[in-house]
Amino acid sequence: MADLRGWLSTLESHQLLFRVAREVDPRFELAAVLKRLDGSRAGLFERVRGHAAPVLGNALSSRQMVALAVGAKTPADVLQRLGHAVATPIAPVVVGRDDSPVRQTVEPTIDLGRLPLPTHHELDSGPYISAGIVIAKNSETGQRNVSIQRFQLSGPDRLGIYMAPRHLWELYREAEARDRALDIAIAIGVHPALSLASQVPVPFGVDELGIAGALLEQPVRLVRGETVDLEVPADAEIVIEGRILPGVREDEGPFGEFPRTYGPRTKTPVVQVTAVLHRRDFIFQTTLPASREHLLLGGIPREAALLDALRKVSPRVRAVNLTFGGSCRFHAVVALDKQVEGEPKNVLLAALASHSDVKQAIAVDSDVDIFDTDAVEWAVATRFQADRDLLVVPGAWGSRLDPSARGGVSTKVAIDATMPLGAAPMDFARIRIPGEESVNLDDYTGEGRH
Ligand code: MN
Repeated sequence: MADLRGWLSTLESHQLLFRVAREVDPRFELAAVLKRLDGSRAGLFERVRGHAAPVLGNALSSRQMVALAVGAKTPADVLQRLGHAVATPIAPVVVGRDDSPVRQTVEPTIDLGRLPLPTHHELDSGPYISAGIVIAKNSETGQRNVSIQRFQLSGPDRLGIYMAPRHLWELYREAEARDRALDIAIAIGVHPALSLASQVPVPFGVDELGIAGALLEQPVRLVRGETVDLEVPADAEIVIEGRILPGVREDEGPFGEFPRTYGPRTKTPVVQVTAVLHRRDFIFQTTLPASREHLLLGGIPREAALLDALRKVSPRVRAVNLTFGGSCRFHAVVALDKQVEGEPKNVLLAALASHSDVKQAIAVDSDVDIFDTDAVEWAVATRFQADRDLLVVPGAWGSRLDPSARGGVSTKVAIDATMPLGAAPMDFARIRIPGEESVNLDDYTGEGRH
């Protein structure tokens, strides 16, 4: 099944699910256990203090899990799968209310405090929804947008929302300019293909649910909303419907974010919640901020877009990695088979310009494993000279969430760590021991072998 439960059984059959039977506190303890599991396994918390519903976290905690979620054979095939899904979307279908698990329960009164919202980090302002897939549309054209936003619990029927200046923000600004609220639906507990598709940087008007359908090889099932003029995922665990109010700003944050620093408290828009629908025995889902899941959800779709952009500059670009150290946003490593001198610098300039978040780009030859940070550093150590291989671009547009940028204005740097084409073969030859790969240490020890 293309829903969260189907994904849970896939995880379980691959020994990628850690079931937590002991009761956990949704304040810090749940996040602390997720942090320990980060990068290896999902965590399903069966008993959360004060709540009946279980909580899932780390749903996509490694590149291997992402590959599994989108039907790719290897992590390297994931970018190709994403590119293919963007090119050949499968439109969602609308199904009846009786055929929609998420409508099994429509809460008669709204009290978000009944949902097991975790508090993740020490200085967070309180409990948050961090794994909500937000659906909205342009009321005139009907064009849908899907994104992930963070929501602060501000009251029983009130959420603070922090929006990056992208498509949802534009929809809200258009509505607000006419003094209208913007209807939204927040789907929690969905197949991870939906989460990943929501992060693909496509232009406004491209339906991210169509990309999700292509990844799942079946249309995403939607149902008419209860109180909003939107279709919502019929197979979600929970859907919260509401309206982002015009002209209202309230305190939101601080909140621990992807750079592993806090986004500060600011005045942000507010969601008035109008309905809560859920499965009878729903599972709540959370994303631990700055976890592998959070970083990969942002990073992998960006890598796909980056690879595409760089191949327009040079078809000899082989692979890209937005590194974990750079929070899968800030630092790009590119492998290419250079054919002319200067080619890596063109590729690096394109990498810096491809997304505002990218502030450091390193080019290496394709013999270097770009997912091995030691190997990349070795290439910089042995194939890079700062006086001729470094580019510094001051005063560019970067990320507001980078604490070293000034209001988002950032200096970008490019490092060309490729070998010169005319070098003598011995100058850069890697040392190698013939026969090393086939050594089996057991053959060289033990009694009675000689
Ligand atoms: Mn969009």
